[in-house]
Amino acid sequence: MAELSPMMTQYFELKKQHKDEILFFRLGDFYEMFYDDAILASKELELTLTGRDCGQEERAPMCGVPFHSYEGYVARLIAKGYKVAICEQMEDPALAKGLVKRDIIRVITPGTVIESSMLQDDKNNYICSIYLKEGKAGVCFADVSTGTAHSTELCSEKLSTQIITELCRYSPSEVLFNAALLDLKDVTAYIKQHMTCAVELLEDEQFAPQRVEQQLTAQFGADWAAATGFARDGCAPYAMSGLLGYLHATQKKGVERLKSVHNYAEAQYMQLSPVTRANLELTETMRGREKRGTLLWVLDKTQTAMGKRLLRSWLEQPLVNAAAINARLDSVQALYEQNIQRAEIIEALSRVFDIERLMTRTVYGSATPKEIYSLASTCDQLPALKALAEGCGCPELTALAGRIDPLEDIKERIYAAVDEQAPSTLKEGGVIRAGYNAEVDELRDIVHGGKGYLSHLEAKMKEETGIRTLKIGYNRVFGYYIEVSKSFTSQVPPGFVRKQTLANAERYITEELKELENKILGASERLLVLERKLFEELLFDLSAQLARIQATAGAVAKLDVLAALAQVAVTNDYVRPTVDEGDGLHITEGRHPVIEQMQRKSLFVPNDTALDCAEDNLLIITGPNMAGKSTYMRQNALIALLAQIGSFVPAKACRVGVVDAIFTRVGASDDLAAGQSTFMVEMTEVAEILQYATKKSLVILDEIGRGTSTFDGMSIARAVVEHISGHIGCKTLFATHYHELTELENDLPGVKNYNIAVKKRGDDITFLRRIVRGPADDSYGIQVAKLAGLPDEVTKRAKEVLKALEATAPGAHRVDQLDFEAFEQLAAPALPGEMVDKLRALDVETLTPIEALNFLYELKKTLQ
Ligand code: ADP
Ligand code: MG
Repeated sequence: MAELSPMMTQYFELKKQHKDEILFFRLGDFYEMFYDDAILASKELELTLTGRDCGQEERAPMCGVPFHSYEGYVARLIAKGYKVAICEQMEDPALAKGLVKRDIIRVITPGTVIESSMLQDDKNNYICSIYLKEGKAGVCFADVSTGTAHSTELCSEKLSTQIITELCRYSPSEVLFNAALLDLKDVTAYIKQHMTCAVELLEDEQFAPQRVEQQLTAQFGADWAAATGFARDGCAPYAMSGLLGYLHATQKKGVERLKSVHNYAEAQYMQLSPVTRANLELTETMRGREKRGTLLWVLDKTQTAMGKRLLRSWLEQPLVNAAAINARLDSVQALYEQNIQRAEIIEALSRVFDIERLMTRTVYGSATPKEIYSLASTCDQLPALKALAEGCGCPELTALAGRIDPLEDIKERIYAAVDEQAPSTLKEGGVIRAGYNAEVDELRDIVHGGKGYLSHLEAKMKEETGIRTLKIGYNRVFGYYIEVSKSFTSQVPPGFVRKQTLANAERYITEELKELENKILGASERLLVLERKLFEELLFDLSAQLARIQATAGAVAKLDVLAALAQVAVTNDYVRPTVDEGDGLHITEGRHPVIEQMQRKSLFVPNDTALDCAEDNLLIITGPNMAGKSTYMRQNALIALLAQIGSFVPAKACRVGVVDAIFTRVGASDDLAAGQSTFMVEMTEVAEILQYATKKSLVILDEIGRGTSTFDGMSIARAVVEHISGHIGCKTLFATHYHELTELENDLPGVKNYNIAVKKRGDDITFLRRIVRGPADDSYGIQVAKLAGLPDEVTKRAKEVLKALEATAPGAHRVDQLDFEAFEQLAAPALPGEMVDKLRALDVETLTPIEALNFLYELKKTLQ
């Protein structure tokens, strides 16, 4: 076999170390892919597959993308779950002797993306690392693009559920884990079925204790336990170490961006199961998975991308500590009351750039001049923001203002160095501000002045030679040249050296022109190099200030969220909830925060709520379909949740004793994709609630038992109510279509009947949307069907059937009291057999009217 070409040998060397990734191999202005990578990428990216000589008989399959637009292609591959290794030319091909040096500078994976074009502004992009050992787990989540990291230790009996809950809290786009996790089948199945993320199994040797020690010391210093808050004997250090190892292997640089870790105890936050998050539509709707129509959509009046991300994370992890919640509420209240301050803060925030992610690109060295300039213009807003926050006269906000560093020195440094019109690439220069560096100024003089010298020279030559048409031009092959049209070539002086002949002109160079050219071209090259160097120095200096900038970015983000919550409270007419450690949920004139915004045209009818752990412990809610049962129940859950993130709530008055968890079983969220029947899913969810709810939880059960036969369903529903009431005692809202359950009010303490009132006039009903005490007297199914547009004959027939059924057992309330056999006779009375035979034998065609009448007479007689 023929030898591979040197470049292909180089390619294979690199590919050997990156078998699992698609290798983007930089060749001049393109990133090329070869062999299997090329075949795969050409399919996934719809690129034309070509070939390249590689020294062997068959050409190597190849496809490529232009280097200046590679991000979009990488983004598409990442979204499809691939990883991409970027191989760069490590030296200028023009200067290289022999083969250009190349190396992998980065592996881009879904969890390690930093390019803004591949990230969603309003959402953190987490990579997760899980280390499991002997029934305990350390879990770390890091957002490389913002430099934030969170970590916790999990160790209960329900470890799988805990891990899944954490995964849902952060929805990472990539998960790393050690082999032990493979034994937790629930977790691996969950990741496979419900999460769109890449996974990576880390080898056990990654977790050797010395290696962990080394890794953490290098990142956080010798006293890493104090710096991070990790327990030295916990699992979290291992998870973090695995994560750091992976980042070092894929990123090469910039890993120092992860400066600190936020350690949280799982119990710091309200428990929200994945199902509950989905049901309550916190950040995406159940249908369509959109933001519009979610709680986040209502609340998100933030101005900055940093604020958007923080708000989302507050929403995803409500607090359970009343003091911490009230601290947030204090700030929101101050901003709520001070309209002018709030408006000014919001105005200043609207000029704040995403400096959190910008700092990552700064540390990685990929920030553009234009972006760096916007860091300075963000700094411009800081003194005002600081003063405004301080001026609200709220201790919480004053403390927050204290964390905003005006970053004057950084701003000055940038403004001094970077040109106002700084472009978004370094390629064309124009980055460094005039007056910043003497050499830059001088080189620019030559470059610009140089053009002046040329026109000078041109004029001089015209005069000396007397050639009117003489002109100086430039092309990439010859550089500067003198062009003389054919008719004047005889007048050309001896010093002119001919370089090129065109159809009607000749091109020459002279000694003098060459000299000038060297000076000019040399200067613009030197200028570019120098500008790049100065800009890189600036990035380096800024990176050294990372901690300060990061802390300020965090404080600004928080101010943004607080101001947004205050603004929403004003616009939507919310009230500050009283949050305490009690067990009550008392709401006066509560509203559903999302539905009231969705249906702007019709008014939303407010309703009260009284729930606690004593008298009003479990509310059974009945009422016809479409009356508003589900809406009412969700509205209560959302109000509790809003209060616990520190937001005002849609109500006239509200008192919330912190709940440790919200559980919901709502509607028929068919989980057919996962291959389970609706009923099975429903029961699994109910089982989970019964297992994990505590007295401090809030539970919402919406028409459970629907998925099976009436009697089964009703029995299960009843047993569930009895169990919750007898064994758990949590605040519960229970909507049901089984009227029979309303009897439970008499049997069980703390159970109360409510219904959503409707007005009935003749055949028509009007929904009043009011919740009132007592059971509903009727389910109005037929009226609702009519309202929904079922044809008249059908609703009329349904009414006949209903009437007939009721006639079989007057006063019956329950299906099992109805006499179905009697009903059948009533509905379709049987004919005696001989009459049926006669009827069959009848020949209608030959029947005379008299015979027909007689037969009818006989028939009627047999029925009596
Ligand atoms: P149910 O669960 O009883 O079948 P829903 O809660 O689904 O009823 O409510 C049906 C519709 O009624 C909702 O989509 C909403 O548009 C409207 N609705 C419910 N409650 C109210 C209310 N309090 N004020 C105004 N409209 C309401
Ligand atoms: Mg409903």
